[in-house]
Amino acid sequence: MNTISSVPVTADVVVIGGGLMGRAAAWRLASAGLDAVVVAGEPQAAASNVAAGMLAPVTETTFTEELLLGLNLASMERYPSFAAEVSEASGLPSGLRSGPTISIAYNADDAARMAQLADYLTRLGLESTRLTSREARQLEPLLAPTIRAGLLVPGDASCDNRQLLAALREAGGRSGVRTLTGFVHHVSSTADRVTGVVLADGSEISAPTVVVANGAWAGQLTGIPALPVRPVKGQILRLDPGRFPQPGLVVRAFTRGTEIYLVPRDSGHELVVGATSEELGFDRRVTAGGVYELLRDARLAIPMSTEYVLAETSVGYRPGTPDNAPILGRGALAGLVLATGHHRNGVLLTPITADAVAELILHDRSLPVIEPFGVERFDRSTSGRATSERPQNDRGVRT
Ligand SMILES: Cc1cc2nc3c(=O)[nH]c(=O)nc-3n(C[C@H](O)[C@H](O)[C@H](O)COP(=O)(O)OP(=O)(O)OC[C@H]3O[C@@H](n4cnc5c(N)ncnc54)[C@H](O)[C@@H]3O)c2cc1C
Repeated sequence: MNTISSVPVTADVVVIGGGLMGRAAAWRLASAGLDAVVVAGEPQAAASNVAAGMLAPVTETTFTEELLLGLNLASMERYPSFAAEVSEASGLPSGLRSGPTISIAYNADDAARMAQLADYLTRLGLESTRLTSREARQLEPLLAPTIRAGLLVPGDASCDNRQLLAALREAGGRSGVRTLTGFVHHVSSTADRVTGVVLADGSEISAPTVVVANGAWAGQLTGIPALPVRPVKGQILRLDPGRFPQPGLVVRAFTRGTEIYLVPRDSGHELVVGATSEELGFDRRVTAGGVYELLRDARLAIPMSTEYVLAETSVGYRPGTPDNAPILGRGALAGLVLATGHHRNGVLLTPITADAVAELILHDRSLPVIEPFGVERFDRSTSGRATSERPQNDRGVRT
């Protein structure tokens, strides 16, 4: 990574935020020859550093988010080539791990809920196979013998988001991206176009293009119209199976009316268990109740998990929007590009976001698939025409 300590005076593009969105966009832009500066914020706080890394366009599908499904599927399609490219450019593993994912239901009510999801997937033409408890346990022997039913979903996979983030940082550095540790306070502009940014310490960078990619904090920037992005707190655990066997598949479990996921890594030393979903703003606390519920539900799905070491507890902030879909596209001022609000699907949406930002900045073109996700949909919502009027995710999914 090419970290700089003094603030550059000019750049072709300033990217605000050093999470997956900022890193992937900056790498794409620098690879095309632009002088890109990432103002990275606080790397440890990034949701990209905390997330579980499920790539779950299928199991994340909900009844109210069909438009988002199209974007999710488009990004999933790009993942294998994107991951290979990042790996090639960085010399580091991308973290991509192929599927399938298995969903399981703990009791009869959970099974009814899962059956509803299976019906919905069938209606959408998304592949899934219903499993008996025995069939599910043949595929994933660590599952509890008491589970009622399973659903095998070949279209979902996972990606170790920490590995991907490290690889994108390295790939960016090798392509000439300059990284500045610090915070953007203000986006400067003339009457109708951006002219750069002012950092928290008062120093300035002049640039004709500014990309807003600072996740859950995007609503705090001054100098641009306020973005409807809020933090959705998630508590998440990392268990280390040590010498005990760990599941081979990503397991999603409906457990007594709640949902949980367990995401294994190839190293065998990390099983990510997540996550709570809390409307508490930027609350940093890891709570006894949050940890208890996650461990309790993990045990219902995989009893062996009680033997694992509790290696890490953390909190991250999903960048939530009123309709749970990202804000992608041009901003209100010329030269302003928005890539935020990825809520619970940001790891999945990294490839399409990077390509969409590059397309806008390098070729002044908008990828058709991102067109429904412009920020203007929220302006229209007051007159009753926007996607933002659709109800919130009603499954309470906890990614
Ligand atoms: C618990 C949890 C589990 C998740 N699981 C999944 C999953 O399984 N699959 C999936 O696809 N997605 C998942 N997500 C969602 C995903 O992590 C996010 O959507 C995605 O990481 C957002 O990336 P980002 O780059 O926009 O923001 P972030 O990764 O949050 O990065 C933003 C960065 O900007 C910095 N910053 C803030 N303000 C400023 C400023 N003013 N100037 C400069 N920098 C600034 C911050 O410090 C931060 O480093 C999960 C999220 C959470 C919290």
